[in-house]
Amino acid sequence: MPELPEVETVRTGLEQAWVGRVMTEVHLRRDGLRFPFPKDMVQQLTGKKIEAVRRRAKYLLIDTTDGLVFLSHLGMSGRYTLITPSEVPRYSEVSSSPSHSKFGELTGYEGRHDHMEFRFDDGSVAVYTDPRRFGIADVFLRAEEQIQPLLEHLGPEPLEQWTAQDAARRCQGKRSPIKTTLLDQRFVVGVGNIYACEALHRSNISPTRPTNKLVRKDGRPTKALTLLVEQVKEVLKAAIEVGGSTLNDFAAVDGTLGYFGHHFQVYDREDGPCLKEGCNGTIERIVQSNRSTFLCPRCQK
Ligand SMILES: [Zn+2]
Repeated sequence: MPELPEVETVRTGLEQAWVGRVMTEVHLRRDGLRFPFPKDMVQQLTGKKIEAVRRRAKYLLIDTTDGLVFLSHLGMSGRYTLITPSEVPRYSEVSSSPSHSKFGELTGYEGRHDHMEFRFDDGSVAVYTDPRRFGIADVFLRAEEQIQPLLEHLGPEPLEQWTAQDAARRCQGKRSPIKTTLLDQRFVVGVGNIYACEALHRSNISPTRPTNKLVRKDGRPTKALTLLVEQVKEVLKAAIEVGGSTLNDFAAVDGTLGYFGHHFQVYDREDGPCLKEGCNGTIERIVQSNRSTFLCPRCQK
């Protein structure tokens, strides 16, 4: 599943390709993904010029110059393939079925999971492919963004205004384990399972530590919480940098880009040695809220 760094990588790719372009055609091959598409989505987006591509949590927010927002969430398996004007004619033959796109050779699955297709005024095409169909697409007025049900309850962005003081305020009185709190989108957005495990390990904090133990009696953050906030930012930034460096192929704005898989310190390393200098611990796997947590019980307390 794409996490925040992967979505940020996709955002950068779409921004480079789309800003200033006009969507000349929008094709939908089904009625919806996780939710039905808005009934007038095609009419609302056709002919619109793209002003910006933003991100809030794991939602891509594409602004048009006339004040609309096209929201796109990649769900479990969504991705965009961008096809340059010079490549498009190679796929000009009509596909055998209306439910298959003709770009299947590029997008996979013979094109049968290509649910949305966008054509632009420079002749380029963007195809949204999503085999598991947990993605979301929506259109609304930018002026009403604050009251969108999908967005209104989201907590702070980890790489923007999020501080240890803010985290401390939200930790107060919470007895749930800190790992569970990190995954709660009202506490901070976009920290998924992998990066939560990594940040806790880097901070020497046990994933099972009760959240309220990270706040001092006077409400200020403990040193451990201050370090955790720093490390969440660090792991996400490092992953975004790796993602950015893989973004040289125009045709591959892919939800799987950006994983820094070879650099995980604990995630998916059960029974492996702890890689922290001076620690001879062994990585363990436990289950919290039905998700696997990886930790080193020796250096994480
Ligand atoms: Zn260790």
